[in-house]
Amino acid sequence: MAENNSSSLMEKVISLSKQRGFVFQSSEIYGGLKSAYDYGPLGVELKRNIMNEWWRSMVHEREDVIGIDASIIMHTKVWHASGHLAGFSDPLVDCLISKERFRADKAPRPQPKDELPIECADKGQAKTYVEAIQKRFNIELKRNGKTLYGMKVIDENTMGFFPDDGDKPTETFPYRGYVSPTFGSPFLSDERQFNLMFRSQIGPIDVLGDITSYVEKNKDLDGKELRTGIEEIVKKSAVYLRPETAQAMFVQFLNCQQSMSMKVPFGIAQMGKSFRNEVTVEHFIFRSCEFEQMEMEFFVEPGTQKEWLDYWRDRRMEWWQKLANDPSKFRYRAHEKDELAHYADACYDIEYEYPWGFDELEGVASRTDYDLKKHAEHSGAKLSYFDQQKQDPETGKNGWRYTPYVIEPAAGVTRGLLVYLLDAYHEETVPNADGEDSTRVVMKLHPRLAPIKVAVLPLVKKEGLPEIAREMVSGFFKAGINARYDEQHSIGKRYRRHDEAGTPYCITIDGQTTEDGTVTIRDRDTMEQERISKDEALQVVQKRLIES
Ligand code: ATP
Repeated sequence: MAENNSSSLMEKVISLSKQRGFVFQSSEIYGGLKSAYDYGPLGVELKRNIMNEWWRSMVHEREDVIGIDASIIMHTKVWHASGHLAGFSDPLVDCLISKERFRADKAPRPQPKDELPIECADKGQAKTYVEAIQKRFNIELKRNGKTLYGMKVIDENTMGFFPDDGDKPTETFPYRGYVSPTFGSPFLSDERQFNLMFRSQIGPIDVLGDITSYVEKNKDLDGKELRTGIEEIVKKSAVYLRPETAQAMFVQFLNCQQSMSMKVPFGIAQMGKSFRNEVTVEHFIFRSCEFEQMEMEFFVEPGTQKEWLDYWRDRRMEWWQKLANDPSKFRYRAHEKDELAHYADACYDIEYEYPWGFDELEGVASRTDYDLKKHAEHSGAKLSYFDQQKQDPETGKNGWRYTPYVIEPAAGVTRGLLVYLLDAYHEETVPNADGEDSTRVVMKLHPRLAPIKVAVLPLVKKEGLPEIAREMVSGFFKAGINARYDEQHSIGKRYRRHDEAGTPYCITIDGQTTEDGTVTIRDRDTMEQERISKDEALQVVQKRLIES
């Protein structure tokens, strides 16, 4: 079997995604929209299958979890209470040389004594940067090919220019503690705050009209005063696209708990779109501005959050691994204290080994009682739970009213889709029709995730074979199995096409079918073919899908 070269794996997956209809660049014919993607005919099925599997395991198969589907636009007070309006911002920095803009909290952090080489894209760029640095900072970095040398970290706040490998710097500069991710440049601007939420306006108010008359009436105000006034006008009708699905579960906690008579511990789950005006969009669909999430808020008794956090971390890990070919590529990582969000008392990231290294796939956080308390405070609603069976630990009396603690497994659907595409991509060397070695690309998607479960292929387009195939396809549809009739090209090409689409089973109707009522069923992964009765095909596929 040929090995996947991880650096080119991503390119191969991106190219196959387009060719086979998994993922397309949004608005491609107009040059594409940065960081927006469309899920094609196979991608939409794969995405839905991932979401359906999640819903099945998180909601249908559990007595202690219920689901909701909340609106994307919520009352603006929700975002005040949750802290998103004030705090949903990441410090942004510009590289003064390359103009690269990036999130300070995600940047590499060279330590004291480390060198600070600047890696340029090519020699030409390296020469330009040497000149730019000389002009701006009055130092001449040494160039070796496309790398610039001479800068070193001195301490947490200082870096120096060390020409000719000397031990004493000839110049020192303030050091921010990190460098730009692409070039490694330490020449950076101040940090600026940036709100990641997409803002829009609701209602019939003409905001631009109101702003225009305000500006006309206040021509003598300075820039800062004008901005404050304009912000006040915009705020009146501002609404935000949700940056996470979680808040609806806190806001609807009481309605859900009471309408379904749920007892703590219980969870509320939701899947759907989220929007973040991400500064750095990267790695294909890994980080985009519009994406989909699968989140669950699990409400527990205070004091039990640690055991529930471990429980959900393990359940979620099992779920990802069960649907993958290579479970060893998943790991979890506990957050360090200084990495925790202000509302969390512990958190794990479930990580996957992407072609660029381990990175986040899902967060499983212990969010304390922060969110319910904040929404109770801002809305006046009593977002608490009364347990008649328990004693209040403070008074010792029967009956305990408390604000539940929350464990949140929060996964990205589209990020999960990328993980399963990467996991599924295999290249194998197999003999072709002439007995020569050829490369077979096969997407070994788990049968439950595969967009098409079974392809039905008449060997030729005559002799009654298409009719038999079409009848079989409608039998699959009646049983709720996504099947596909396919008569285009030679049978070998059709098998390869369905290997690339990840179709686990191909059923071929041939001359023998009309004689003895048998068909062949080909397994995508082993390529083995078996003759089975045409009338048993549905049961065989159903059984294999259930057992997969
Ligand atoms: P990251 O650190 O990668 O920005 P995060 O910690 O901000 O992610 P959460 O707020 O915990 O992410 O969101 C839960 C999950 O939603 C993430 O684990 C990821 O799978 C997904 N997700 C978050 N942001 C994006 C995005 N911009 N594009 C695609 N998926 C995303």
